[in-house]
Amino acid sequence: MMAPERWEVGGGYAEDSDAHVTPPSLREPDPGSTDASILARPVQGQPVLPADAAARPASPRVRRRTRLEGRRMSSPEERKVVEAVPKQLLIGGEWRDATGAATFVVEDPATGETLCEVADATPDDARAALDAAVAAQADWAATPPNDRSEILHRAFLALGEQADDLALLMTLEMGKAVAESKGEIAYAAEFFRWFSGEALRVDGYFKTAGNGQSRVLVMRQPVGPCYFITPWNFPNAMGTRKIGPAIAAGCTMVVKPAHQTPLSMLALAKVLEECGLPPGVLNVVTSTSSGDVSAPIIADPRLRKLSFTGSTEVGRKLIAQAADQVLRVSMELGGNAPFLVFEDADLDAAVDGAMLAKMRNVGEACTSANRFHVHESVAEEFGRRLAERMGAMRIGRGTDDGIEVGPLIDDKQQAKVAELVDDAVAKGATCLTGGRRPEGAGYFFEPTVLTGVTSDARVLSEEIFGPVAPIATFRTEDEAVRAANLTEYGLVSYVFTRDLTRALRVSEALETGMIGLNQGMVSNAGAPFGGVKQSGTGREGGNEGIAEYLETKYVAVNL
Ligand code: NAP
Repeated sequence: MMAPERWEVGGGYAEDSDAHVTPPSLREPDPGSTDASILARPVQGQPVLPADAAARPASPRVRRRTRLEGRRMSSPEERKVVEAVPKQLLIGGEWRDATGAATFVVEDPATGETLCEVADATPDDARAALDAAVAAQADWAATPPNDRSEILHRAFLALGEQADDLALLMTLEMGKAVAESKGEIAYAAEFFRWFSGEALRVDGYFKTAGNGQSRVLVMRQPVGPCYFITPWNFPNAMGTRKIGPAIAAGCTMVVKPAHQTPLSMLALAKVLEECGLPPGVLNVVTSTSSGDVSAPIIADPRLRKLSFTGSTEVGRKLIAQAADQVLRVSMELGGNAPFLVFEDADLDAAVDGAMLAKMRNVGEACTSANRFHVHESVAEEFGRRLAERMGAMRIGRGTDDGIEVGPLIDDKQQAKVAELVDDAVAKGATCLTGGRRPEGAGYFFEPTVLTGVTSDARVLSEEIFGPVAPIATFRTEDEAVRAANLTEYGLVSYVFTRDLTRALRVSEALETGMIGLNQGMVSNAGAPFGGVKQSGTGREGGNEGIAEYLETKYVAVNL
């Protein structure tokens, strides 16, 4: 592979380290990318909804053995990217059908149309995938760090080269605008770059014990075979955050993506295979029976680690299952991020930050600002400006030009968002903009700003996962911090103030694993991402990321 030219940091989710080298395809000027300058920009226009406006039947999203007739994709380019993805399970380096050749449907959430079918794994397939990971473990752990690092770096470059196709594929199965998907590919690739460096920095130490006689030798070794379960909202990046450090540390793995978005993970596996990842190191099982497929893997004493990104509800169940084998677990769970705007904040920056923290990924992010606590002296102005921006966003199929707000993932999510808005309004909130599901096909919801939200409204305590910004007011700093911490979640909070002392005081008081200080996004491969309280345990990215995949061994040396 050719050495990269000196590239600049890209747009979208690309991060703020000046050490980054980003392939050109990840940094093209990107009119819809998810950085603050884009989402903060007012865009005039009416909702652009799919032409097929007929109400779609309330059919279940997952159907077995659905025939392919009638599927429609609007362009040959879309068809091409879907066709290029393997639709089978990847086990021990072989792409193969599920036992019994069962398949399930992958749907375009913008239209409800079938994109394709993929293999629907059974518990037997899951066992076979773990067998393959176990069989590959010893050789992989013994593979030189230079080689592991090189594979990751090649994959980083390959994601850049294939960013356009991978982004289109992601949009087709997940819904968000292509520019946002491209931002996610850039973000996902950064984990491979980061961990390609980390592969070379796994260290230990040797020292003289306090008594001066014996010596202490400490070494770090790969944990062993891992099981990863990933969600649909960031179908590529939530994979690379786990796969990257596992490869770097010398662990093998089985990955199970969410049934809504298997294609991005299958495509990622193909990229890694093409970049030289040996058979069995990464195995992928796609399935509609998550619980049944996961249970035998988690119960198997050969598994050494479980890493999960998803809801707190499912995370709790998995922690309980993992207890039987006393498995190491990493849990990246739900959030309920407070967004605090103090009276001394730069209001322009706060609205820009709010656009990013709320509208990135159509609000379907664990880091999404879930509730806005704004000082009463600036709340009206903040709400007015936010409503103006959000109300001007263009809604439509994520593949169409200029679209900023794609559909939600499915009808269930759409109904939940509508229910939370209705509840808030019934309890006295006012809708400044949005508040409805647009007519027609797809699971769209209008960007919505609610003011006067009462403390008993569900929208303040439940994870919304949609484009809804509820605003509540506060009078004092203590009141703001108390309200922010009044949740079982603790992933991220956002603070906007120009007072440095207050910024640090409030940052110390907030019970979250991450804080966006005068900025609406915290995601960065070089920083430790993770939550406290019921938002989980463990960190992904940063210096801490690889530690999740290493065991510490101490040897007492008698000289
Ligand atoms: P989810 O319902 O918990 O699903 C996440 C994954 O778990 C999917 O692959 C799902 O597969 C699988 N799953 C569901 N039930 C399972 C079971 N009993 N056993 C094993 N696997 C099971 O979450 P989601 O709706 O996909 O994702 C949204 C949630 O993820 C939100 O709460 C969000 O905050 C959280 N999230 C957290 C982070 C973070 O870093 N903290 C990042 C992104 C998302 P199937 O759906 O195919 O069954």
